[in-house]
Amino acid sequence: MLEKPGKIPNKLTMKPKSSNTFRGVISSILMVCFCLLLISSFNKASIKKTDVPISDVITRANDENGNIEKITVIGNRLDITLKGQSEPSETSRKDASGTLYEQGLINHCANLKGDAFTACEKKYPIIEYKEDINIWGIIFDISITIIPIVVIVIFLSYMMRQAQSANNQSFGFGKSRARLYGPDKKKVTFKDVAGNESAKQDLTEIVDFLKNPKKYEKLGAKIPRGVLLAGDPGTGKTLMARAVAGEANVPFFSISGSEFAEMFVGVGASRVRDLFSKAKKNAPSIIFIDEIDAVAHKRDARGGAGREDEQTLNQILVEMDGFDNDSGVIVIAATNRVDMLDKALLRPGRFDRHVNVTLPERKDRLEILKVHFKGKPVEASVDLEALAKKTAGSSGADLANIANESAITAAREGHKAISNADLTEAFERIAIGPERKSKVMNEKERKITAYHEAGHAIVGHVLPDSDPVHKVTIIPRGATGGVTWFLPPEDRSYKNIYELKDILARAMGGRIAEKIVFGTDAITTGASSDLKNVAELSKTMVIGEGMGKKLRNLVFPSEATGYYTITTEKPYSEKTAELIDLEIKALSDEASMRAEEILKTNRKILDRLATELLKQETLEEKELAPILKSATLPASAKLH
Ligand code: ADP
Ligand code: MG
Ligand code: ZN
Repeated sequence: MLEKPGKIPNKLTMKPKSSNTFRGVISSILMVCFCLLLISSFNKASIKKTDVPISDVITRANDENGNIEKITVIGNRLDITLKGQSEPSETSRKDASGTLYEQGLINHCANLKGDAFTACEKKYPIIEYKEDINIWGIIFDISITIIPIVVIVIFLSYMMRQAQSANNQSFGFGKSRARLYGPDKKKVTFKDVAGNESAKQDLTEIVDFLKNPKKYEKLGAKIPRGVLLAGDPGTGKTLMARAVAGEANVPFFSISGSEFAEMFVGVGASRVRDLFSKAKKNAPSIIFIDEIDAVAHKRDARGGAGREDEQTLNQILVEMDGFDNDSGVIVIAATNRVDMLDKALLRPGRFDRHVNVTLPERKDRLEILKVHFKGKPVEASVDLEALAKKTAGSSGADLANIANESAITAAREGHKAISNADLTEAFERIAIGPERKSKVMNEKERKITAYHEAGHAIVGHVLPDSDPVHKVTIIPRGATGGVTWFLPPEDRSYKNIYELKDILARAMGGRIAEKIVFGTDAITTGASSDLKNVAELSKTMVIGEGMGKKLRNLVFPSEATGYYTITTEKPYSEKTAELIDLEIKALSDEASMRAEEILKTNRKILDRLATELLKQETLEEKELAPILKSATLPASAKLH
């Protein structure tokens, strides 16, 4: 979002530039006309010629005492030069069908030889053939050669101007498009960045380098040149970099790697040069290269078309290598994909400091929510903690989005302050889509949905390694008919195989409940996304996590995609491919079997939950508890 303003073309400078182009077109056209006039005037004979009939010309030419010196044949036109003159003074036309001889001219000297021939020739006119010069032909030829050149020249100059006006007015072509967030701009500090304490701590050091370089130089310490911020999208990397500049109170030059990609050959490198020279002039300062993976991906991974990127990347490296210890410029780069970066970038003296920006944990999520609800009127009862609990896996940007969406919801509902209901609506809307109360479902559909969701809830509830059920609803939302919400597990880095298998089984719970209650032939399309999730998760488990039975601890990774999928190039034999298919099927069969065992054992509870859902539409944790309390896990569904 911060990057947007610089991309707006400058309207004021566009206008005169486009009229310049117009003037260019006009003057080129005038030039062409002038040339044509010049050429045609050369062709017009300077002496006026008298028209004479062809018979008269033939008669005089056959007469050895005739007054004709030379006949110039140009196509069908004859220009006649009289004896003693140097320019033709008469003109005539022969028949288009034949030569002069066929029209009566006699070749008097044809049979003579030597001196006799020379003497004979002197008496009769010289017949000279000239190429037919067609003035329109010439114009046409010239036009063909000149017009494309003119068009190309106009086009090129237009392109150059376009590129120029896309730049900022003050930065010329090939200059850096970097924007300056000087100390006068709205300052971001570490206070605006919630959570991520360890990253902030690492960066506090950088702030200190910028503020007190002498302190480090005195002790002979090398000040770091480059800091790489790595983390998932929306975790606040851009925000963090701006906060460093704000804390150190130094100018901040920011450019995004993806902007280099739009440039002409060689422009990327020159922009880098310009960016660095600007930053050095304003030292101490920060250069921020966002999304650096766009130019600095592994050289072998970029495949062919990356010469421009390579030049840009090399220029960045050259500039960083050229830093003096006291240059006072620190380069901060951000990326979502450290694994994709060219190793050359990570060498000492370049981006050798790595700061990981992670997805926020529960208490950090609460802090981020507090930052984004600050200044928004909220009801006293609003429970941000509960929201923080529900949003495991969400990034800072997601949370900022929920905060904004709940303010919008409150405004739409005509509330004076944001309520818990607005919060929940905003969260669910962002997670799944808007509620669709108006969607009519007939009684049969509602009943199927109720059983389907009850199936998910019961299976999820009794399985020992599944997350607790938090809410069940049969109010349609987004594309779904109903939703069973499980409270996400508190942030742990790993999931074990039992948890994953429980996720598969509870996902199957919906379809299996439909099957048990309405019969195998009555199953609906309502389970398609559940089944897709099962297919994807079981595939990941087998191919990516080595969780198959026979393929235990074997994975099939690929650098480009993370893992080979069934459809891309396979680094395994046909036999193994077959085995993979079987393993995937075994996982989903096992999940179906477990769901079925659980729901058959708890059939009465299934009926009761479904009935209650049909009555109330939405059941929260405390209403679910008494119904689910007596549900049991049959031994046949146990894994351990
Ligand atoms: P990234 O660059 O990692 O993709 P951004 O810095 O662009 O993420 O974050 C997008 C937005 O999300 C920020 O403008 C901010 O509103 C919000 N945000 C992200 N992380 C945090 C955080 N830790 N504290 C407060 N707001 C955050
Ligand atoms: Mg960013
Ligand atoms: Zn479902």
